[in-house]
Amino acid sequence: MNANKVVLIGAGMVGAATLNSILMLNLVSELVVIDQNVQRAQGEVMDASHTTAFAYSSGANIRVGTYADCKDARIIVMTAGPSIKPGEKMDRQILAQQNAGIMTQVMSEITKYTQDAIIITVTNPVDVVTYLAKTRANYPGNKIFGTGTLLDTARMRQIIAQQVGVDSKNVHGYVLGEHGNSAFIPWNLVDIAGVPVDQLDRAFHMKAPIDKEKVFEGTKSAGFDIIQLKGYTSSGIAMSVCRLIKAIILDERSILPISVVLDGHYDTKNVALSVPCVVGKNGAEHILEVPLTSEERRQFKQCAQNLTDILGKIS
Ligand code: NAD
Repeated sequence: MNANKVVLIGAGMVGAATLNSILMLNLVSELVVIDQNVQRAQGEVMDASHTTAFAYSSGANIRVGTYADCKDARIIVMTAGPSIKPGEKMDRQILAQQNAGIMTQVMSEITKYTQDAIIITVTNPVDVVTYLAKTRANYPGNKIFGTGTLLDTARMRQIIAQQVGVDSKNVHGYVLGEHGNSAFIPWNLVDIAGVPVDQLDRAFHMKAPIDKEKVFEGTKSAGFDIIQLKGYTSSGIAMSVCRLIKAIILDERSILPISVVLDGHYDTKNVALSVPCVVGKNGAEHILEVPLTSEERRQFKQCAQNLTDILGKIS
């Protein structure tokens, strides 16, 4: 295995942004791009390769490849498959049937060459896609997970940070559950410098307390708002993938909310949902059971039920 090799499947808007962000991580020495649209992959690779002459972009070997490249890959990032388009129903689940098919096809290719690489799924609906990829291919559970609510969490942290007037990195907390319309925020876990969310206005001399409903709505609608404005989302998800790659390559054991197949955690089975996990060299090394209120547990169960219903409809 090449410890610093990443295979990127999908060279669309998300794949291209991820390709460029990975180069700036300076942790990857070999970067292989696969897309059914080979011309598109070639164009993105050629364009990205010209950044290697500049500081902050690694002198990596970037090329278009095939699934045989998965053989010695450390990490595989799956971004293939369409996204929601402006004007369509703003629910990632409308992509379920089509992208489940694409993921199944891609997994059948990957597993011809490896069961060792860590697979990060991005393709939406990411919880559905992650669950089907893991179970249909019988891939080791710690080695396949979705970006899940890592992006939603980043959005929530940025929205709160802006209201408080501090760096987003100082806002701690998670969005959990589905990367989609039934996601929720366990507010007891949100703080800045140890100050709980309900006391932020006093501690930071704010004019009004944090409007939790507004933060929640802003977090949930962010992806759809961006799609309506620019046609697709790419920057935030690219950086989410990079955060995971860094945690794996540097064996950081970072606690990040990602979509994992649950096996009794939070009294839930047979779905993938986002919960905080320890991410290190072996992938999702430990699924944490964080304290949730009874209402939040109910919301988590609701996410699981929604996902079970959707999975039941996919052939
Ligand atoms: P896009 O349409 O721009 O690109 C999709 C790419 O996949 C295309 O280049 C296409 O040729 C390729 N493709 C399709 N089927 C393929 C196959 N079988 N094998 C190889 N390549 C194939 O879409 P995008 O904007 O890049 O979005 C990609 C996916 O990422 C979507 O499902 C989108 O919803 C998802 N997404 C997820 C998150 C998240 O937080 N999880 C965020 C943003 C986007």
